Amino acid sequence: MKILVINCGSSSLKYQLINMENEEAIAQGLVERIGIEGSILTQKVPGRDKYIVQQPMATHKEAIQHVIESLTDKEHGVITSMDEINAVGHRVVHGGEKYAASVVINDEVMAQLEECTKLAPLHNPANIIGINSCKELMPKTPMVGVFDTAFHQTMDKQAYIYPLPYELYEKHGIRKYGFHGTSHKFVSAQVAEMMGKNIEDVNIITCHLGNGASLAAVKGGKVVDTSMGFTPLEGIAMGTRCGNIDPAIAMFLMREENMTADDVDNLFNKKSGVLGISGVSSDFRDIENAAKEGNARAELSLDVYNFRVREMIGAYAAAMGGVDAVVFTAGLGENSPTTREAICEGLQFMGIKIDSEKNNVRGKAVEVSATDATVKVFVVPTNEELMIARDTKTLTTK
Ligand code: AMP
Repeated sequence: MKILVINCGSSSLKYQLINMENEEAIAQGLVERIGIEGSILTQKVPGRDKYIVQQPMATHKEAIQHVIESLTDKEHGVITSMDEINAVGHRVVHGGEKYAASVVINDEVMAQLEECTKLAPLHNPANIIGINSCKELMPKTPMVGVFDTAFHQTMDKQAYIYPLPYELYEKHGIRKYGFHGTSHKFVSAQVAEMMGKNIEDVNIITCHLGNGASLAAVKGGKVVDTSMGFTPLEGIAMGTRCGNIDPAIAMFLMREENMTADDVDNLFNKKSGVLGISGVSSDFRDIENAAKEGNARAELSLDVYNFRVREMIGAYAAAMGGVDAVVFTAGLGENSPTTREAICEGLQFMGIKIDSEKNNVRGKAVEVSATDATVKVFVVPTNEELMIARDTKTLTTK
């Protein structure tokens, strides 16, 4: 069985064709600058040179057309015809309260996704366009929607209700939703497997530290709490996002700096986080280098970042009544031994202790805790595409 996984952004599209017999990617690619001059498709197939297509792609439909042509290309492709694609799995950012699991896409689901657009105005429209384009090009192929928010729907009300007038939850759906759910689910399941335990029997703190970053407290396979909220702005500090701050800062800036709501939105989402503190970059590689060269603000930004993640780990251990494992994933979590070590420094009191030698690893699924640690620490590369493909297979072969 072969499954095509599609992840549509507003002007980009990532894809992977996965062979479900061995769960390996047969081909993966990225289309950039959709609807903008200079559209480009880059496809990678293991053991081959990159295949690049540079042609105008005015719409997502044209981009997907090029994806199918690239996958079926006589010289550079990996399948002979589109019919070899058994199903398509779509990443969808927001499923609102309606979807606690992945679903086979039908008209009712599409209507519901439109409904969720007001909750994710930057992301859901691109996901919807991607699904509609695929439906037009592959009308007979079953499609599945996999939601970033779904895994977090297992949270209890005490965790997701904000201390605001309850009517706002009823009227606008203002509550904590959480994001990166597919990743948190994937790595927590992987950790349980690496521990040789059933997911029902373990308390895991998952730290998805990438450009966007979130933590989740996963108790027995269910989310007790997660750090992102109504939007992906809440939680720990991120590359460019501020995460948790005093909400009164927004009103202060509007009054004192004459900022509009959009100005504040832009400041909190695009100019804050480690970029805002360091003034160097939102990329941790640049910041780590600047800090090594003695840039005090770069060093401070890393200290703030690590401190907040450390605090959140403590909070989540309390929320679950104990923790068996902590796992690091995504760009920074998988690739920065210094970040992992700095975060865990000071958590020895709760049994978290990293072995520096084992921790000197990048992008591999391994345990990195010291032998005398009572809480295991893992690095697990996330694989949201595989998780999407697995759900798509389950739902389309029922
Ligand atoms: P992601 O959003 O998961 O792709 O993560 C991207 C982020 O991971 C980048 O912005 C970097 O800050 C970080 N990152 C990736 N590789 C490394 C590395 N080798 N060392 C430190 N940070 C890294």
